[in-house]
Amino acid sequence: MNANPELAEFITKRIGHGWEKDLTKLKELEKFADDDASLDELIQIKRHNKEALVEFLKHKQNEFLDPDSIFDVQVKRLHEYKRQLLNVLHIMYLYNKIIEDPSYNAPNRTFIFGAKSASGYRRAKSIIKLINTVAERVNNDRRIGGKLRVVFIENYRVSVAEKIFPAADVSEQISTAGKEASGTSNMKFMVNGALTMGTLDGANIEIFEEAGKDNGFVFGLTTPEILKMEEEHSYNPQQYLERNPALNKVVEQLVDGTYDPTRQIFKEIHDSLVYGVEGQRPDVYYVLADFDKYVKAQEQVAKAYLDKKGWARKALINIANSGKFSSDRTIEDYVRDIWHLKKVVVEDSEIKNA
Ligand SMILES: *Cc1c(COP(=O)(O)O)cnc(C)c1O
Repeated sequence: MNANPELAEFITKRIGHGWEKDLTKLKELEKFADDDASLDELIQIKRHNKEALVEFLKHKQNEFLDPDSIFDVQVKRLHEYKRQLLNVLHIMYLYNKIIEDPSYNAPNRTFIFGAKSASGYRRAKSIIKLINTVAERVNNDRRIGGKLRVVFIENYRVSVAEKIFPAADVSEQISTAGKEASGTSNMKFMVNGALTMGTLDGANIEIFEEAGKDNGFVFGLTTPEILKMEEEHSYNPQQYLERNPALNKVVEQLVDGTYDPTRQIFKEIHDSLVYGVEGQRPDVYYVLADFDKYVKAQEQVAKAYLDKKGWARKALINIANSGKFSSDRTIEDYVRDIWHLKKVVVEDSEIKNA
């Protein structure tokens, strides 16, 4: 209600009040999934929220985004298991593709990052450096002609999050399955009508269950598949590099001078993927193993976005099915199943007198 007042009004206009205190009521929105006027209005609301984020970033960090592009967002702590690196490698891949492939024809895309890393977490800081370096290159290459833009939003925090979530088209939740890395941002995106691009990990699984897999983009190795590879020591990242020249190219571009003339800054990231560093196995988080599947899922995003109404329909179904992710529901579950508490009912009048 506070961060996305237009959407709140859209909901109330259709299903009345009540959903604010009982989020499961959002389900009633589903009957508008095929209502043209509702979908048009939802498209307009998203557009307004994107314009607001564009305005904000213009003033805040002199960044000019195209509100007609797909806003593809990954905001969360910077951590290797959350795989911001997979996202950047895909951007580097798209950049190569746009330059090399004259038949490339997909909706314009803006990749938005926001994150923090602990001061002692060197690898995370290298990844932030990589995102900013790729942004600098891509955003200043005239051959790209607006097809691709990358922005790292400074100082990610709740007040900024309130502007980002309502403006997002795609919610990036691409952690390694089994790391239980998805927290709550996937839910914040969902209730604001962004479609989830995600692995079968943590609460992503419930989101895909609630909204239906067809209303999001599922990809990647599953937890049992990863556990099996770990048990059998059967993961060999080299195989993926040999089989996929486009992937091999972006990984080599980390150290061949394309992005960094000293060839040193991203060497540690490169070596961690290809050889393993500091006694670790190579590519601990299966970035290379999931790369091809991620590229294919991202191609589905581009395709789906061409159908504006179809996209809005998916967004509406996501919103309608996000009721489960209310913190009230979570706490009710704890009260019943874990704490076994007897409820104390507090009347409204008692609250007013308190
Ligand atoms: C939701 C939120 C987080 C947590 O993000 P996850 O993707 O759930 O880990 C962190 N910081 C801010 C500002 C948030 O709003």
